[in-house]
Amino acid sequence: MSESSQFNSLMTITTRPPLTMVSGQGSWLTDHTGTRYLDFIQGWAVNSLGHSPQVVVDAITRQAARLISPSPAFYNDQAIRLADLLTANSCFHKVFFASSGAEANEGAIKLARKWGGVHRDGAYEIITMVNGFHGRTLATMSASGKPHWQELFEPKVPGFIKVPLNDLTAAAAAITEKTAAIMLEPIQGEAGVVPATPEFLRGLRALADERGILLIFDEVQTGMGRLGTLFAYQQVGMEPDIMTLGKGIGAGVPLAALLAKEAVCCFEPGDQGGTYNGNPLMAAVGCAVLEELLKPGFLEHSTAMGMRLHCGLEALSHTHHLGEVRGAGLLLALVLPNASGDTIVELSRDKGLIINAARPDTLRFMPALNVTADEIDTCLRILDRIFSTLEKEN
Ligand SMILES: *Cc1c(COP(=O)(O)O)cnc(C)c1O
Repeated sequence: MSESSQFNSLMTITTRPPLTMVSGQGSWLTDHTGTRYLDFIQGWAVNSLGHSPQVVVDAITRQAARLISPSPAFYNDQAIRLADLLTANSCFHKVFFASSGAEANEGAIKLARKWGGVHRDGAYEIITMVNGFHGRTLATMSASGKPHWQELFEPKVPGFIKVPLNDLTAAAAAITEKTAAIMLEPIQGEAGVVPATPEFLRGLRALADERGILLIFDEVQTGMGRLGTLFAYQQVGMEPDIMTLGKGIGAGVPLAALLAKEAVCCFEPGDQGGTYNGNPLMAAVGCAVLEELLKPGFLEHSTAMGMRLHCGLEALSHTHHLGEVRGAGLLLALVLPNASGDTIVELSRDKGLIINAARPDTLRFMPALNVTADEIDTCLRILDRIFSTLEKEN
């Protein structure tokens, strides 16, 4: 099949292998030729319950027949139920739903600016992290710290001050009377699974309290059980003022959320909204996903699977003289001794395993949270064979 004839009515936004995915079940994805792949990307840490999980199929089918969209001008029972579930299981009091992580983060930025306007004499600046990633809208690209985005789509949205991750002194020095908030990912996902240290996160909390500014956690990638607890902040023994969720909350459908403490909620009618925000079809899926994660033993299972993958990757690294294993839960990375990431990704796909190179020298693993021990062992076996073959060739 030729790339030009097959794919040329889709706008080019990235390079993709010449495969078309047609179906999926659990940890397995099937292409147009019937080839099956063990999927350790899962829609980019999105399919928290694997491909086409029955609870999501049921929730969509049931809700689609009941009510798809009454318009954002009315309350609907599914959005209320999901907001109640989220606030009952987190430290937050209020929720605004969105359709993507970037949109939830836009909402967080707007809420922080509104809060700064109302409570901090017009403060609007937000301190964000070098190499951070918050999405692809203009404001969230401006908030992101990806070095090669710096020249893109100028002029950017002003008001984002970048400091290095885990540098508390730099963060403290960046705070001025114009600062409204600090915003970061507890683990930088797109940067290659780079964790903020618990000391840094607790230090930021203390700093925000001391200086009277807000702390925002972008948990689009780390939230909804990805790290073994429902949210990453729960592992650090502290609470942000605002948190955003995306990816795993929809288990594959477009759903995201902005959560905030009561004292921070200062949007007035007309400040925030959107046609699809809180629509019951997506909210019903969110409820099904969260109810699944809250079932006894679910998060314990994904924690155990994260450990199994972590240990297995460390053993691989030891055997084949690779680099460190980073991350937590089922968001893990293996550092390679050279920039062979893309090669390993391709060799893996040829052997039926889908993984991602978050950086040229970093492999990233984000399987479904209900991945099985057998599936993890299969992934490790395939990688072991690839590294052994490469060693023989050299
Ligand atoms: C993926 C991601 C986003 C963007 O989410 P989209 O749904 O792609 O808009 C934002 N922040 C983090 C930390 C992410 O991993």
